[in-house]
Amino acid sequence: MDCTALLDKIKTHSRTLGFTGFGIAEARLDADQAHLQDWLAKGQHGQMAYMARHGDMRAQPELLQPGTLSVISVRMDYGTDPEQAWTTLASSDKAYVARYALGRDYHKLMRQRLKQLAQFIESEIGFFGYRVLVDSAPSLERALARNAGLGWIGKHTCLIDKDEGSWFFLGEIYTDLDLPGTSLAPQGYCGTCTRCIDICPTAAIIAPNRLDARRCISYLTIEHQGSIPEEFRKAIGNRIFGCDDCQLVCPWNKFAKVHAEPDFTARNRLDEASLLDLFAWSEAEFLRRTEGSAIRRTGYINWLRNLAVAIGNAEPSSEHMDALREKCNHDDPVIREHAQWALQQLTAKLKI
Ligand code: SF4
Ligand code: SF4
Repeated sequence: MDCTALLDKIKTHSRTLGFTGFGIAEARLDADQAHLQDWLAKGQHGQMAYMARHGDMRAQPELLQPGTLSVISVRMDYGTDPEQAWTTLASSDKAYVARYALGRDYHKLMRQRLKQLAQFIESEIGFFGYRVLVDSAPSLERALARNAGLGWIGKHTCLIDKDEGSWFFLGEIYTDLDLPGTSLAPQGYCGTCTRCIDICPTAAIIAPNRLDARRCISYLTIEHQGSIPEEFRKAIGNRIFGCDDCQLVCPWNKFAKVHAEPDFTARNRLDEASLLDLFAWSEAEFLRRTEGSAIRRTGYINWLRNLAVAIGNAEPSSEHMDALREKCNHDDPVIREHAQWALQQLTAKLKI
């Protein structure tokens, strides 16, 4: 079988595994490495020290996996109904969770499917060296996916496909096969649009393709440890885990497909849960309900911290204030401080 026919067969098989995009890139990212180094030098990665620790490895696949010559890049959709997202965002007593985190943690599912894809290739060509990645090791996955023809990197720094938008996960297979690269997709379709920059609640997109993570609500509610800087708390609104605003306004997402993966369906009614219900979860309940979910990663203390901020941004009610008063006595000083801040916000609104 010639190489083109083989790659067509692999691509077709990838579709049966649920991957909606497939491409191949050369394992070189020189320009992106310079962009990464500049971003790190300016401290715009915040507390994500792992980004700096593995900076070179991210941009040079062969440092992570010696012998890597080509990278197979795939994507899997997780799109949901955008109207429902807007409705939850506008309901200040409800919790907004980033759409990617509503269902089962995608890492495990995608890794299994990528392994199945690698095994399929092995069944076709025999033994070859490979490593599958889904956020599991340092890699510039968006740049690799762009080079593999899966889209362009938008001004909000997510990858966009002109026919399917940006609601998708990315995964890679680093291989020691010298595969022909897929042609680059047309770039620069953002044009003069600035919708994502304009809507960002915390002005985190400081320039096209430049995100200051320290200002981004996704970073602040998931990665950031300790106290959330007060200047961002009101802007966080009811977003308790991540933020999607820049993707929700992106015009290209009118072409996004709603996912067909049962594992990505919202669990625990997280697409419409009330702040108070979630704030009432004990640690044991948090651990039980978030088993197999990306939300576990934030930990119970950050979960309560984020909910306290969101309740402080809700309408004042006796239920909200009672729940906050109770957390003002929490063992953890971060929870106490955020609950006190939130209580002050609600009290101030009552006085207006
Ligand atoms: S995720 Fe939210 S906070 Fe972060 S850049 Fe996008 S709109 Fe801004
Ligand atoms: S909202 Fe506009 S500028 Fe931002 S990524 Fe989408 S097309 Fe590009």
